[in-house]
Amino acid sequence: MTANKQFALTALACLLGGAPLVANAAATIIVVNADGPGEGFNDPTPVAPIGGNSGTTLGQQRLIAFQTAADLWGAKLNSAVPIRIKSNFDPLTCDANSATLGAAGPLEVGSDFRGAPRRGTWYHGALANKIIGTDDFAGRPVIQARFNSNLGTENCLAGGGFYLGLDGQHNGKTDLVGVLLHEFGHGLGFSNLTNGQTGRRLSTGKPSAWDYHMLDLTTNKLWSAMTDAERKASGINSRNLVWVGANVTREVPNVLRNGVPQLRITAPLTLAGNLLAGAADFGAPLTASGLSGTIAKLSDQADGTGLACTPLTAANAVAVQGKLALIDRGTCTFSIKVKNAQDAGAIGVIIADNVAGSPPPGLAGSDPTITIPAARITKADADRIKTRLNSAGAVKATLGLNNNLRAGADTQGRVMMFTPNPYQPGSSVSHFDTSAKPDLLMEPQDTEEVKRSVDTPQDLTYPLLRDLGW
Ligand SMILES: [Zn+2]
Repeated sequence: MTANKQFALTALACLLGGAPLVANAAATIIVVNADGPGEGFNDPTPVAPIGGNSGTTLGQQRLIAFQTAADLWGAKLNSAVPIRIKSNFDPLTCDANSATLGAAGPLEVGSDFRGAPRRGTWYHGALANKIIGTDDFAGRPVIQARFNSNLGTENCLAGGGFYLGLDGQHNGKTDLVGVLLHEFGHGLGFSNLTNGQTGRRLSTGKPSAWDYHMLDLTTNKLWSAMTDAERKASGINSRNLVWVGANVTREVPNVLRNGVPQLRITAPLTLAGNLLAGAADFGAPLTASGLSGTIAKLSDQADGTGLACTPLTAANAVAVQGKLALIDRGTCTFSIKVKNAQDAGAIGVIIADNVAGSPPPGLAGSDPTITIPAARITKADADRIKTRLNSAGAVKATLGLNNNLRAGADTQGRVMMFTPNPYQPGSSVSHFDTSAKPDLLMEPQDTEEVKRSVDTPQDLTYPLLRDLGW
């Protein structure tokens, strides 16, 4: 599926309170149908049973999928208070190529309730109730979930749509139960109540429990100790914001695998070092031993850039043969560039980004005939290499994986949060970074690799909720 499937968060409201304590095992999650007659969960369109979902109308099947995801979370959590989720299917933002699948967030938050782990701190309502042991919100839903009723129709990822089966066999459609696990995670606690875009705290200026667990590696400050301006800067400090909660950090070695893409420059000494790289979705995977070679800069444009959007000239083919070809981003797809370099005899491809920014994203695309590895480096790093090559000096490098680091964690093994620059409202800060491997449930985009699991050894979502007090 080439579609850009983006999760999003909803805005939230707030209240507070206090009451006595009870313990229990597991939690009951109640899906509250908030749709009107004949629409959403009440859509009477007849449907055939699918993948273990026995509903006979579209509305029934939607509700059964919601309750299935709710029950998966309920089996994992521990709360004496039923968790009510106000749920709707409504027309949400979409076009032919991208869509908002759905969004969820807390409807209620609490602070300074009995048993609160920290004073003067906001907690998601579902977690507040769990800690208090009785319902502090008078039976009102504590989470809101809205999903896109138009998904799969014309001009809304046409031909796609939600798979309503319960067995995960979604075959190119969007697995609703899997997406719900993600979104319910936001509602239960996996979302910062402090605004990452402005740095501003929720009403009355109290920090969120979340703020005590995010550490900026540049300032070495927790979000709870920062000014608004510092938080705003930290929210776009790419790959420099980590989660320091003990439960998550303990489980990182059991979930994330070793291997961070890198281009290691071995000569000349003035350039030697490890450069960040973004791996390709196609071609040979990067390895720990790496692919070593001399870098050859392609040049097929009047201004000296090398786009490789057409088969290479004889002269350029000679230049890149047996080498790591340095090719500029732009004009055509990455896979076209890499294929042209491969056809000319290059052993690997380094794409030089053409816009400033770090870290370098991966290279999207697919072409099963590509057998050489490829990766992207930043414009700044590429410019330094080009300067050397233009002065007739050689540059030698190894393209591969740094196996001393876990994918998605920092040098101390702490998971990184999603902090692209520019800021992405609804996604930044309140997700794990997209460099995590394997892909985690709470990354901002849905991928085929994400498992229907909220806990180890596949995932770190539940350990993060545990850090917050679940
Ligand atoms: Zn999300």
